[in-house]
Amino acid sequence: MDSSIVLFGPPGAGKGTQAGRIVQATGKPQVSTGDMLRAAVDEGTELGRTAKGYMEAGELVPDEVIIGLIEERIKLPDASGGLLFDGFPRTVPQAEALQNIAPVSMVIAIHVDDESIVERICGRFTCASCGEVYHDLFRPCKVEGVCDSCGGSEFKRRADDSEETVRTRLTAYHNQTSPLEAWYENQGLLRRIDGNHTIDQVGEAISNLLI
Ligand code: ADP
Ligand code: AMP
Repeated sequence: MDSSIVLFGPPGAGKGTQAGRIVQATGKPQVSTGDMLRAAVDEGTELGRTAKGYMEAGELVPDEVIIGLIEERIKLPDASGGLLFDGFPRTVPQAEALQNIAPVSMVIAIHVDDESIVERICGRFTCASCGEVYHDLFRPCKVEGVCDSCGGSEFKRRADDSEETVRTRLTAYHNQTSPLEAWYENQGLLRRIDGNHTIDQVGEAISNLLI
């Protein structure tokens, strides 16, 4: 398996927003554990039933569940050229498990302050057909009610994108996920990006890392 890239940062930092650009530049498919878990919840699978309560509460799903999910994902044929991990790993045990199964060449850490995170998450909505990510103020549809990307007219808001749950998710990030930065920095893999800029400016900074 070729090397993978990790897109790292707090919830709402802009990982999903920037992922498309990296997929285009590298050809590595995006793997979002959050998207995989939400699909499992919608389908009512055993995985979904296990994950649902944690997700609704804004807590992390147990490591063994996530590691099992990734072990299965990297067996698929499109993983041979490496993957773009979005929202994984989120704990040191997850990163250790990844190290044992797939090489990582770069960890792109997007930094955004907590108050901006709350503002971003509370205004987030996505296209129900293609998943394009929007924001009420910062990234509205060009034509109101019509997806720029696919022309769809149905949109979704996540139940866990409430202010109260965002605060719990930020606590989980600071306590369980942020220690991973030092872990990856020690390995010489970490590249920090200031995410407190416009979507285009952040995208430009990420593109410069990929040259
Ligand atoms: P993540 O995948 O890290 O959880 P998203 O990409 O879904 O974050 O972005 C969270 C919200 O913030 C979305 O509504 C998105 O439109 C908005 N957003 C993303 N990047 C920026 C930015 N640089 N400036 C302002 N808003 C942004
Ligand atoms: P996200 O879509 O990345 O914001 O993730 C939504 C929710 O899914 C999180 O709040 C967690 O409950 C769960 N989740 C997603 N990825 C992981 C992970 N790598 N480890 C643990 N929980 C996760």
